[in-house]
Amino acid sequence: MKLKDKVAIIFGGTSGIGEATAMAYANEGAKVVVSGRKEQDGDRIVKAIKANGQEAVFAKADVTQAAEIKTVIDKAIKVFGQIDILYNGAGIHDNYKTAVEMEEDEYDKLMAVNVKGPYLATKAVLPHFIEQGSGTIVNVGSQATHVAGPGGSAYVTSKHALEGFTKQLAYDFGGKGIKANLIAPGFIETPMTEGIEDERLKDIPAKRAGKPEEVAALAVFLASEDSNYMHGSTVTMDGGWVVGR
Ligand code: NAD
Repeated sequence: MKLKDKVAIIFGGTSGIGEATAMAYANEGAKVVVSGRKEQDGDRIVKAIKANGQEAVFAKADVTQAAEIKTVIDKAIKVFGQIDILYNGAGIHDNYKTAVEMEEDEYDKLMAVNVKGPYLATKAVLPHFIEQGSGTIVNVGSQATHVAGPGGSAYVTSKHALEGFTKQLAYDFGGKGIKANLIAPGFIETPMTEGIEDERLKDIPAKRAGKPEEVAALAVFLASEDSNYMHGSTVTMDGGWVVGR
């Protein structure tokens, strides 16, 4: 029970790695606010968490909308009385588009979800963390945080940017009992990677895709007190993919 009585908000919590993280946090004793745009999926996950005897609620939000993020924060405080962990996992991919292929509106949309979303959520939660003198932020980067290739021009840019944001958060708030770290997953079996599995596996030393639950276990570590001296770190979980690149 590494997260006993902690309250966690999971943005991007209604599928894939975020869903696995919501389940893992709850299994470690956290009270979980599952946030996403899809109510039906949110309700399904909340039901599964409750069936395991833990506490959870769903709070709908598009992470590009500050007003919707505020309703999630308000609900967390209203229902559970505090916030201890912020997990920024919402993200979209760009289908490997080059700068020539990428249209401006697509670029703006991807940046709004992958970069501005974590900023808006963090900005909304930080006053609570600062007041209580503690808090944990877990951002979700990618292989595309380290190298070109796992995405196109917008995705790779966004995941590099998120690492910079994470470092700056650590720099600015590490002295206030707040830690921020980034997970850099490799090729993980989720709705985002459906249909592109085979061609990638040959480049991965582990010769398999990762499972959302494996990344979720890392997210538990980064949310727990076991990682209290980690500030602004990027932790890669990629079956060794990046070492050969
Ligand atoms: P996924 O598509 O299942 O998860 C992405 C989630 O973000 C979905 O629940 C989606 O609804 C949500 N989302 C998208 N736009 C949103 C918005 N505007 N507001 C709120 N929620 C929104 O895929 P996943 O693989 O679980 O991705 C989770 C995170 O992991 C993403 O940030 C992704 O970039 C990152 N990632 C995934 C892989 C992989 O191989 N699957 C690798 C590296 C990084």
